[in-house]
Amino acid sequence: MDSRHRSTRRALTALDGSPQDVGKDASRFQSVGVAERHGADFALPILPVRELVILPNMVANMVVYQPSALGAVKEALARNRLIVAVAQRHQEQDDPGPQDLYPIGTECSVGRLLRMPDDTHHVLLQGQRRVRIGAWMQHAPFGRAQVTVCEEPEPRSSQVEALRRAALKLLERCIKLNDRLTEDCYIKALNIEWPGALADFIGAELQPPIEVLQELLELLDPPTRLRRVCQVMSAELDVLELEHKIQDEVQHEVDRGQQEYYLREQLKAIQRELGEHDATMRESQELRERILARRMSGDVEQRALKELDRLEGMPALAPEYSVVRTYLDWLVALPWQERTVDNFDLRHAEETLNAHHFGLGRVKDRVLEYLAIRKLAPLGRTPILCLSGPPGVGKTSLGRSISEALGRKFVRVSVGGIRDEAEIRGHRRTYVGAMPGRILQTMKTAQTANPVFVLDEIDKLASDFRGDPAAALLEVLDPEQNCAFSDHYLEVPYDLSGVFFVLTANLLANIPDALRDRMEVIEIPGYTEEEKLHIAQQFLVPRQLVDSGLSPARIEIEDRAIRRIIRDYTFEAGVRGLEREIGGVMRKVARRVAEGRRHKALVTEARVAAYLGPQKHFHTEAEERDEVGVATGLAWTAAGGELTTVEVMVVPGKGAVALTGQLGEVMKESAQAAMTYVRSRATDLELAPDFYERQDLHVHLPGGGIPKDGPSAGITMAAAIVSALTGRQVRRDVAMTGEITLRGRVLPVGGVKEKVLAAHRAGMKTVLLPRRNLKDLDEVPAEVKDELQLVPVDAMDEVLGLALHPWRADCVGEAAALVTHRPLHPPRLIADPLPAKPLPAMPLPAMPRVARPRSRRAIAVAP
Ligand code: ADP
Repeated sequence: MDSRHRSTRRALTALDGSPQDVGKDASRFQSVGVAERHGADFALPILPVRELVILPNMVANMVVYQPSALGAVKEALARNRLIVAVAQRHQEQDDPGPQDLYPIGTECSVGRLLRMPDDTHHVLLQGQRRVRIGAWMQHAPFGRAQVTVCEEPEPRSSQVEALRRAALKLLERCIKLNDRLTEDCYIKALNIEWPGALADFIGAELQPPIEVLQELLELLDPPTRLRRVCQVMSAELDVLELEHKIQDEVQHEVDRGQQEYYLREQLKAIQRELGEHDATMRESQELRERILARRMSGDVEQRALKELDRLEGMPALAPEYSVVRTYLDWLVALPWQERTVDNFDLRHAEETLNAHHFGLGRVKDRVLEYLAIRKLAPLGRTPILCLSGPPGVGKTSLGRSISEALGRKFVRVSVGGIRDEAEIRGHRRTYVGAMPGRILQTMKTAQTANPVFVLDEIDKLASDFRGDPAAALLEVLDPEQNCAFSDHYLEVPYDLSGVFFVLTANLLANIPDALRDRMEVIEIPGYTEEEKLHIAQQFLVPRQLVDSGLSPARIEIEDRAIRRIIRDYTFEAGVRGLEREIGGVMRKVARRVAEGRRHKALVTEARVAAYLGPQKHFHTEAEERDEVGVATGLAWTAAGGELTTVEVMVVPGKGAVALTGQLGEVMKESAQAAMTYVRSRATDLELAPDFYERQDLHVHLPGGGIPKDGPSAGITMAAAIVSALTGRQVRRDVAMTGEITLRGRVLPVGGVKEKVLAAHRAGMKTVLLPRRNLKDLDEVPAEVKDELQLVPVDAMDEVLGLALHPWRADCVGEAAALVTHRPLHPPRLIADPLPAKPLPAMPLPAMPRVARPRSRRAIAVAP
């Protein structure tokens, strides 16, 4: 059966059970034949309905399109005006068959059928009773089927009354929240006694979905139906309450917005009256233009404009005004999009780097490689270089040269001594006088978003209860994070990814691991005397000439004079002190020129003292001759490497060991280890087994004013102790460094490059160093490696074999004689004195053959 009805649910009205309440629509319905209505089964035309379920006592006005539906209605009008309206299961279906209709429908009486001007028909139906559809008797031209009236059981009164009251209460609440339901509806409901009819009435008023209405139609037990209606009302109430809440909130927002608008307008009027308005408006207009001109990212610009709106609404004298104003000034002052264009000319870059710095090949290569890669892949990452080395070796100034080579701006900030995280990341705006952190302050001075940024003294970061600045720096440096660096003050992300960070440090070991991980470390070990001379000739002297206003016609400094300044007036791995001393010489000459002297000043080696005063620094020199109980070690200081002498004296006593020279804990422990090693090798060393019971040992490191620590003097102390005990001389031209273990193994130590340079400077011939430190020799200049014999050692026995002379009767000190087992026989060589690998031949210095008295030091302790 193809029937098409269009009925809007709004066209539906519900009526209660009493005939007088049907109103004027009810008058359209005529009484139905009693015989047909009360029969058990009877046949009626079927009217399939879409999007509507007609409940009993409900009046519905519908449009009828389909001829078959029209046929059914006309048939009903022609007979007893009764028809069965039944809902379709699928609303979109055009031609529903018996299986597409619900099994229970409503017997309705047809009120009237009106033909409209557009040729459609409107029919008015009133629901009467629930009927179950049975066998179909015909399908065309309209459907007709047997129907049975559904009987509704009689409800139990107490339960029903409770349900009725609950339903009425819920209905009352629904009416309050739902504008569609009127008070009138409540009054009607109040007057319906029969629970089934009440459920039908409320169901029809609520207009729940079709499925729910059909469910109500099919629920024959009145209390169950009423209970279901209550559930539907509760769910509806939840939705209505939420809807109301949202509406309230929206309304509140709108009210507040309007209120703010009116207040602003009033404020403007007041300011206009006070004459403040024009100046403030001009200022904020200017600020707005600057914000828009800054080309910030969308979010940041939004934020800035929002703050500006706030500012405009504030009186200029309000304390908050200056806070917002300063914030906006910061936003406007930072470089957001401004970038310099990198100069990719590699030759120019190389020339620039060479023009300012001598040597430093690895750093220069790295910068040129970076430029080459950037040229080929313009969007590549910017590296984070860390230059590590002693002061004055050109780390910071190299950063400046890099910026010049790339054509970028240069900025620098020192983070040494920073303890507070807020110094890096800024204070929140709630603090009085809050400011962005140092990183963004420096970016402001850079005025471009891609400067070369030198972070000095990264190894001197500290941390305490105020947070860990290293963690904040991590965010600055980490390429994964720094594209959105968050400063506490700024509160909007700032992109640091274009910045070329160059970090400088004196000691790599002090840099927090997480930071060290992210950077590419290039070590600058310090310069040899030769390199310093070149730097002075090519860079320092010309620069100091300019600084002191002299011309080369006025002064000439001889190379030997410069060497003397290097050796006797400076104590450093870099060249800062050297530059200062050369400056000192220039100043003296400048004064004389200013006083009218005309002839050229020639600074010779001999005249250096006349310009700079007496010698300032005395290097620890190599010993003048081979001695017993004196060994030369190598130490690392912040100013580079240095020679240290270890003196050991044996005196009669009871086995005490004295350690002097301001030794730190580590050094004391390595002296103990050396001592234990010597005792364990007493037999091999031809010492009496109980030698330590009869004498005291005194180990001393001269330079008692300077605290010393570290494990690297271990083998030197052991060599000096063995020498003192056995009376074998230590070769004066052999310097050594290495940690000793109890079993006599030699372990690697730090600062090897600097130590080797110091040994070379002091004129040593041989340096013994732990085999595992061989890798550190890459950085040592070739000329040093040519002139020094660098011998890797694994065990203390090798050290003794290389550093100590064989036993010689004329050199044995008395103290040694006291302890050696067989003092008058030359001791045999200790076992396996040479390393497994054949060592390069060591030219031993010619031993002076003059018969000299016993060792000076040995005499000093003779009883
Ligand atoms: P650092 O940062 O390592 O302490 P600086 O970069 O401040 O050292 O350098 C100190 C001075 O030494 C600067 O004037 C610098 O020009 C000069 N200098 C250092 N190394 C060299 C070098 N290889 N060539 C030329 N000048 C140098």
